Amino acid sequence: MAHLELSDDVLLTIVPIIAYWLFSGLYEILGRFDRYRLHPKVEEDEKNIVSRGTVLKGMIRQQAIQIAVVVLTQRFINNNYKGREAEPQPSALAVTRQFLVAMLVEDAWQYLGHRFLHSYSLLYKHIHSTHHSVVAPYAYAALYKNPAEFFILDAVAGSLAFVVSGMTPRTGIYFFTFATVKAVDVHSGLWLPWNPLRFLFGNNCAYHDVHHQLKGHKHNFSQPFFVAWDRIFGTHMDFSVVERRGGGFEVRLPKSN
Ligand SMILES: [Zn+2]
Ligand SMILES: [Zn+2]
Repeated sequence: MAHLELSDDVLLTIVPIIAYWLFSGLYEILGRFDRYRLHPKVEEDEKNIVSRGTVLKGMIRQQAIQIAVVVLTQRFINNNYKGREAEPQPSALAVTRQFLVAMLVEDAWQYLGHRFLHSYSLLYKHIHSTHHSVVAPYAYAALYKNPAEFFILDAVAGSLAFVVSGMTPRTGIYFFTFATVKAVDVHSGLWLPWNPLRFLFGNNCAYHDVHHQLKGHKHNFSQPFFVAWDRIFGTHMDFSVVERRGGGFEVRLPKSN
């Protein structure tokens, strides 16, 4: 029987998108249980400026652009950094180091770009406000954003992380799939007691929920992995997660804010 063998470049393009929808679907099912939610369903309907249908359409358009950008970037990288595909996979230790470097590069660019988009009212109004139209986040709204923001933040951050870390396309499949799942997780709006990502990373869904709230717009810019840049530049906002009367949880900000 003939079997279909997909190159690492092709897998690097499509696996993160498949993971996006698989994990979004999983969180969507878990979101049916009010006991995990940071925002009750009614609050999601009241606060969010765009409908779920608009976000869904926006995400399909967004991922079509994403496929084009990844294909073009890979072509550029393959032309300028020949032989990556043919490289053998390095040791597990080297892959771990590349992962760490890629996470640091991705976070650094995302922090700078994200803060930049909040610093100029015109940029916020015409570009970044699309992402903030979802005030009570849910999983598949994670990468709902203006295409210009996708270029400024995600495309550049991802390309830099790939090139600077020196990872192979095979490692890139793992890294970008993990980064995608992390982005979905921080937007899930679900405080799952057994979620390992919640314990491994300070940058979890409650941390990013602070930024999506109106009072948190000038804080907690860091994403998707660590919180270091917010601490270094004084934009970190503390919060607490408490049980909500009537079920679920809520993120409480300090009284002075
Ligand atoms: Zn923002
Ligand atoms: Zn967000």
